[in-house]
Amino acid sequence: MKTMDYTILENRCIARQVFRLVLAADTADFEPGGEFVNLALDGFFLRRPLSVCDSAPGRLTLLYKVAGEGTEALRGMTPGMRLNLLTGLGKAFDASRCERRALLVGGGLGAAPLYPLCRELAAAGKEMTVVLGFGSAEDIVLENEFRALCPDTRIVTMDGSAGTAGLVTDALKELSPAFDFYYTCGPAVMMRAVCAQLGTNGQASLEERMGCGAGYCWCCTCKTTGGPRRTCTDGPVFDADKIVW
Ligand SMILES: Cc1cc2nc3c(=O)[nH]c(=O)nc-3n(C[C@H](O)[C@H](O)[C@H](O)COP(=O)(O)OP(=O)(O)OC[C@H]3O[C@@H](n4cnc5c(N)ncnc54)[C@H](O)[C@@H]3O)c2cc1C
Repeated sequence: MKTMDYTILENRCIARQVFRLVLAADTADFEPGGEFVNLALDGFFLRRPLSVCDSAPGRLTLLYKVAGEGTEALRGMTPGMRLNLLTGLGKAFDASRCERRALLVGGGLGAAPLYPLCRELAAAGKEMTVVLGFGSAEDIVLENEFRALCPDTRIVTMDGSAGTAGLVTDALKELSPAFDFYYTCGPAVMMRAVCAQLGTNGQASLEERMGCGAGYCWCCTCKTTGGPRRTCTDGPVFDADKIVW
């Protein structure tokens, strides 16, 4: 892991209460990597964890939903301002676990860390189905980006204002063709239902409240079959058969 200052290139609203933050690092050859970054905000003691949605050497794209005081302050930042990030954190989804066909299931901003995975799977020539669930049409993010990589991208909204009406678990009932590995990220209640429905041959990215985000404070402990684990450094991605929900 590494701390580095980034300059804001874009901080734009792309859906209801959701912003796309595009950042440039001081050194162009710096590859952010990792599953998430921990972002320092002036006036806030703890950093805020956000998933890596897209990265290139020296450049990073994050999506965030305004959820509390920190993300509210972030919403007010403008291009040219600088942010300090702790990068290279967390274990990402393992694309090599899929042999032939993958199923990606996202809920809300859980779509963000699934996007780089989708790109990796597409580059490896794997077939895919992507199911993304949102509350309503106004909440949809990354639909076109996923569709460009995976034509079999399905949108589900709880109020039926776009795609199929219902929950992602409803959409999964009608799923074909078969997949050999699944990946999921979203609210815990959704992932728990997805894992119960799809079985153990998958990975889920957990979202626990974090303190340091770097493995020292053990604030973000989750339960696994191997005992307590730190979501920040042992995860946030865990094998579905190891998670005790
Ligand atoms: C690994 C990981 C990846 C995440 N990726 C994203 C993402 O890509 N986009 C996005 O919008 N959100 C993401 N979140 C959730 C995001 O970190 C919180 O919404 C954010 O920290 C809220 O900060 P706040 O100051 O606005 O809210 P407040 O409620 O005021 O925050 C108070 C404290 O609680 C912590 N906190 C609050 N909610 C969460 C939460 N859900 N998870 C962890 N810590 C929390 C904050 O970091 C802060 O220390 C992620 C969380 C984790 C753990």
